[in-house]
Amino acid sequence: MAAREEPPARCPVCETMYDSVSVHESGLMVNLLDNERYRRVCFEPATRGATPIIRFYHHTHEQADTESTDDVRTE
Ligand SMILES: [Zn+2]
Repeated sequence: MAAREEPPARCPVCETMYDSVSVHESGLMVNLLDNERYRRVCFEPATRGATPIIRFYHHTHEQADTESTDDVRTE
């Protein structure tokens, strides 16, 4: 399967609409405990050219509440 160069319209992890997507090439810290805007961030490994990257899909609280029912969560 060819790696996507552009992010899809929906999050490929949970298939929910997302508010924004960010691309990272190195490690970083994520802390959403006190985040009023975003409830969940999904991570997708990808490549941009020959560079491995990670895409972060940011879901707002509203979007997270309308997620697909077959999503598997532990909360
Ligand atoms: Zn997601």
